[in-house]
Amino acid sequence: MAGRVSTAAVLDASGGNPRPYADHRPLRIAKLDLDPPGPEELLVRMEAAGLCHSDLSVVNGDRVRPVPMALGHEGTGIVEEVGSAVEGFAPGDRVVLAFLPSCGQCVPCMSGRAYLCDRANAANGRGELLSGGFRFHECGQCVHHHLGVSAFSTHIVIDRRSAVKVDRDIPPEIAAVFGCAVLTGVGAAMNSARIEPGETVIVYGLGGVGLAALMGALASGASRVMGVDPNPEKRKLAEELGAVGVAPDATADAIAADMPGGADVVIETVGHARVLEEAYRSARRGGRIVTVGLPPPDQKFEISALSLVAEAKTLSGSYMGASIPARDIPRYIDLWKAGKLPVQRLVSSVHRLEEINTLLDRMSAGEGIRQVIRFDDPAD
Ligand code: NAD
Ligand code: ZN
Repeated sequence: MAGRVSTAAVLDASGGNPRPYADHRPLRIAKLDLDPPGPEELLVRMEAAGLCHSDLSVVNGDRVRPVPMALGHEGTGIVEEVGSAVEGFAPGDRVVLAFLPSCGQCVPCMSGRAYLCDRANAANGRGELLSGGFRFHECGQCVHHHLGVSAFSTHIVIDRRSAVKVDRDIPPEIAAVFGCAVLTGVGAAMNSARIEPGETVIVYGLGGVGLAALMGALASGASRVMGVDPNPEKRKLAEELGAVGVAPDATADAIAADMPGGADVVIETVGHARVLEEAYRSARRGGRIVTVGLPPPDQKFEISALSLVAEAKTLSGSYMGASIPARDIPRYIDLWKAGKLPVQRLVSSVHRLEEINTLLDRMSAGEGIRQVIRFDDPAD
């Protein structure tokens, strides 16, 4: 079958893009030729996609990726066509996209750690699908895939292992954020930190990922949760969700008053080494620090080697919430349906694809939580 045309947000330079992005438009809305799906692939018509800080990091060069690249890695859509060897998906299925598929055959996959799949990690680094190569073309040239997904596109071809089937009764702008913010944040709380009822928790950064971690901490039965962010609106939302909102410069006093000795669990979702150092210090003796933020690769952090031992702290990184997407996305959707994870509160605004550069400016300024693009008319 012949391919089709997809309208996509394409990045031509990873880093070196001047601001404001609304004026300089590093993301160009382009018509790309899209190949038909290969035997193990799906053609998906996108319904909604959320903007994550990791997208901004590719634009501002904190995380350099090959270009040209069709950006976006958090989204949901409807399967339009399935490859000849695909089982378990049919046209009309709603899927949420996972930004790291798993091959099922490498050592991490065989060890039950799908979020570390070696082959998918290498494919993501090359900007290819896990099934190999590129499906987007512009004037005969290949356009790279962002994390196997490229969610800021009207239509995408993906490896079937990047898709998780979900119910169709979820509003698309809510379904979209399960793909990254929820999978990463809730997973950091539940899979990585394994928060137990009654524990105290501090979350640094209240963007989409941090607020999802905060929701995951509350749903896990944490007795007291503190959310740290310079933005007062985000702190207010944290309070509405049942946590205490604290400004960064007031954190030390708040910890001394509310969690003497520090928190049992600290989750860092800012993506800055200095904040990670602070997060480490905020954990009590025997506490667990989980870091989720992705700082620029040259940032180093310093902690006392002695304290790691003498205070018996555990510091661990959490990629994609240490999740198995096909297990965890439906699980988190069930928790949302049960009213235990108010994921709808993460969706701060809904937009059209053409507004994408303005959304990058807002995220750079620390504004908005999940700004979500709808590919149909958001007013419908
Ligand atoms: P975001 O920009 O929406 O949120 C970051 C928040 O940190 C903002 O609200 C900002 O106001 C706040 N902040 C800035 N300085 C702060 C400080 N000193 N103390 C406390 N808060 C501060 O970003 P996001 O989309 O929620 O992503 C958060 C981080 O997680 C990014 O680094 C992103 O790249 C990373 N990420 C990691 C994974 C993973 O698998 N590990 C997945 C997705 C995103
Ligand atoms: Zn993300």
